[in-house]
Amino acid sequence: MLLREVEYARPASVRDAVRLLSEHDGARALAGGQTLINVMKSRAASPDVLVDLQDLAELKAIDLAADGTLTVGSMVTYTELVESVEARARPILGDVCATIADVQVRNRGTIGGNVCSNDPTNHLPPLMVALGATMTIVGTDGERDVPAEDFFIGVYMTAAGAGELVTKIVIPAGKGDGFAAVTIGKDGTCIVSAAASLDGGAPRIAIGCVDAVPVRVEVSSTAADAVREAVRAANLDPPGDVHASSGYRRHLAEVLAARAVEQAEQRRN
Ligand SMILES: Cc1cc2nc3c(=O)[nH]c(=O)nc-3n(C[C@H](O)[C@H](O)[C@H](O)COP(=O)(O)OP(=O)(O)OC[C@H]3O[C@@H](n4cnc5c(N)ncnc54)[C@H](O)[C@@H]3O)c2cc1C
Repeated sequence: MLLREVEYARPASVRDAVRLLSEHDGARALAGGQTLINVMKSRAASPDVLVDLQDLAELKAIDLAADGTLTVGSMVTYTELVESVEARARPILGDVCATIADVQVRNRGTIGGNVCSNDPTNHLPPLMVALGATMTIVGTDGERDVPAEDFFIGVYMTAAGAGELVTKIVIPAGKGDGFAAVTIGKDGTCIVSAAASLDGGAPRIAIGCVDAVPVRVEVSSTAADAVREAVRAANLDPPGDVHASSGYRRHLAEVLAARAVEQAEQRRN
């Protein structure tokens, strides 16, 4: 289906982008367009103004600090993350991005667009929660940092409000991360996903596709039985659909969390 008529702006600075987004009620940031353009084609959203972020070079940087902190600009594509030497500091990032959809989507889709769309089936929201990432949000009132756990607030909803931009994602130093998912076909949409990080002692586990936002599960041990019991005790109530019943998603959550922790342990050593 053809797009409705829409104004198009291509600002040269973050300040101009934020100004344009906040001046127009119906303005939306355009990153890789891999979600937004499809949503516009289906008429599920009809923004009045598209604010294209492609010219904002400062959103395309990947920086690895001496202490191991990794800062990824929101306009960095999946392919750039896969190929980045700096991002190998946290290899799970590139490894997961390499499995998102297909080459076309990976060449256009961005880390910022992935977290900002907060589709519960997207790969990166649970991973960002498990890694303890922080999103930097810029608006007309200035800049603030929001931990991933507070960033995802509902289906397609995040802490980045109208008129605001996510400029970068900061991932603390660490090693020992894992990710496991059951998808629809190879490299397809997740039915359930689980991410785990072992840095700092007890595993940080986040489960995707079982609720509107990634679900954190607390556990003090890396033993598979303990992880599965912790997921069971979280009393997940996932939706059922044509791909998996609610009960099967609950089962997958247990199995995948244990697998993600196991992978994280293998990578820590
Ligand atoms: C065929 C297909 C299969 C896919 N399969 C998967 C999959 O298996 N797993 C997966 O994770 N994803 C999948 N995706 C989605 C893909 O990863 C998208 O790239 C991603 O969801 C959005 O990123 P984008 O850069 O394209 O953002 P866009 O589509 O441009 O934007 C998405 C939303 O985020 C907002 N936004 C974007 N950047 C910012 C920013 N910096 N600040 C504030 N708001 C912003 C936009 O306004 C828009 O509302 C798939 C997409 C397609 C087309």
